[in-house]
Amino acid sequence: EHPAANRWINQALVQSIIKPRNKFAHKGTYGHAAIIAGSQGMMGAATLSAKACLRSGAGKLTTHIPAVGYTIMQIAVPEAMTYTAGKEYIELAVDLGKYDAIGAGPGWAQHDTHKALLESIFQQTTKALILDADALNTMAQHQQLLERLPRHTIITPHPKEFERLFGKSANDFDRIQLALKKAAHFKIIIVLKGRYTLVATPDGLAYFNSTGNPGMATGGSGDVLTGIITGLAAQGYTPSEAAIAGVFLHGLAGDLAAAYTSQESLIASDLVEYLGDAFHQLV
Ligand code: AMP
Ligand code: MG
Repeated sequence: EHPAANRWINQALVQSIIKPRNKFAHKGTYGHAAIIAGSQGMMGAATLSAKACLRSGAGKLTTHIPAVGYTIMQIAVPEAMTYTAGKEYIELAVDLGKYDAIGAGPGWAQHDTHKALLESIFQQTTKALILDADALNTMAQHQQLLERLPRHTIITPHPKEFERLFGKSANDFDRIQLALKKAAHFKIIIVLKGRYTLVATPDGLAYFNSTGNPGMATGGSGDVLTGIITGLAAQGYTPSEAAIAGVFLHGLAGDLAAAYTSQESLIASDLVEYLGDAFHQLV
């Protein structure tokens, strides 16, 4: 709980959330994350989320991907363990109960196995669950899944994905009101992405992010955010702490990257590379 004056997500608020690492830490201290992502031709979304998750401080990461992405993931992200299921699309994920946080959806594309995949993810997760991209589009097509979202879920729609899930709004203000209503109704956190990303909590609070720039309007930006929030949640930050700190660090990495490379040249991989500098600004 933060006082009303702190609902602007700035450096002071995020400094109050992020704790220094324990001197006696071992990799078990910082949790085991899973990223369930990728399909034929969209393995970049999976590798970007995976790298961002590790760069956010998760102790261990296992990626669940389709077989077509096996070599890509193992080479692009040697730090991650990899489990494969399905050939071109991720079809099934097992043993999810052991993870401290699960990020799912980046690069899934559309496939008829994804409804069953989501149902099995919902049944197995016991801790934080971050849903993005095609996981959200799957729920938009099968609205009954929304009623079954676990309480510890964070969804990260951009405005188009939000509209597919919850319908059109007349303007930005109405969309924010609708996000707050849905977060309370489903008892989840809704991260409505945009210029001033909204974090809507189940208890009706609205936090707005101060960082980020239009250089981040580029393919893969959102996949990096999914990885960051998953990595923070795996370490034991609560879902709302992970969402608030995650959107701030993501935007700050974008601001630092743009200062170096320009907004025009910024690509999503740069966000991963500048995450370290973003963390540095907090301590
Ligand atoms: P996605 O559309 O899923 O790739 O997500 C895009 C990400 O980039 C979100 O986290 C947005 O908040 C961020 N982003 C895109 N455009 C801007 C902008 N003009 N200002 C700040 N952040 C942005
Ligand atoms: Mg996206």
